[in-house]
Amino acid sequence: MRLNAEGLSKSYGETKALSGVSFELTEGIYGLLGPNGSGKSTLINILTGNLAPQTGKVEFEGEDIREMGINYRRILGYVPQKQALYADFSAERFLFYMSALNGIKTKAAKPSVKEVLREVGLSEVRHDKIKTFSGGMKQRLLIAQSLLNNPRVLIMDEPSVGLDPKQRVLIRNLLKSMAADRIILISTHVVSDVENIADKMMLLKKGRLIGMGTARNMIAYYCRRKKMAFSEKVGMEDVYLHFFGEHYDETDIL
Ligand code: ADP
Ligand code: MG
Repeated sequence: MRLNAEGLSKSYGETKALSGVSFELTEGIYGLLGPNGSGKSTLINILTGNLAPQTGKVEFEGEDIREMGINYRRILGYVPQKQALYADFSAERFLFYMSALNGIKTKAAKPSVKEVLREVGLSEVRHDKIKTFSGGMKQRLLIAQSLLNNPRVLIMDEPSVGLDPKQRVLIRNLLKSMAADRIILISTHVVSDVENIADKMMLLKKGRLIGMGTARNMIAYYCRRKKMAFSEKVGMEDVYLHFFGEHYDETDIL
């Protein structure tokens, strides 16, 4: 399976949100790392087909996603950064509603609704109204809806916002268990969210992809730059601080 981004650019007025971003994703988990404003959501909106790039295109298995239309929607799961949940719906009703939007009738949706509620740990509260939920519960419901269609491509924009440490572990293990035959892209500005699960890191800075690779390779690169011996004590956090810190040299591209 292949998802390709080719020369993606997008500006908002004078703001270059994304500049010539290209990459290829195959099965596995990708951590899209960058500080606020680096273009993560813009990239994700393009990858999910919700925003048209000004230049470039996205292809799934060699086909332009904008031409695939509904066929791309069928294989895509998406967790948006902003929560748009219906306060007066119960968790279960919301999931049936989301299934209906995807053309799946209540009876047919039953097994997948039950399954995703279990996966995110919301089975017990499935009849409770969303307005009574904590931030973490709402976030898990948003994740649950992205899994309804058993997506081959799963794209999550800051999915761990509002989750407590226990819930983070639950979601992390869930994603790990799903990764073998899927493309999973997780955006975050918190390194620890992805450093232990992502097969590859993607560093996005001011709309440019400044690095893509395994954490180990990035750490090794960082150690060479710093003229240090490779050490287990160095982590992605150090790499992140180096590339996104004030002393970053623009020519220093991984
Ligand atoms: P991130 O998700 O990494 O925080 P965004 O993709 O949301 O980054 O934003 C990238 C840049 O584009 C920022 O400078 C942001 O202010 C700008 N931007 C994003 N969306 C819009 C918009 N709808 N209108 C104007 N500027 C925007
Ligand atoms: Mg964002």
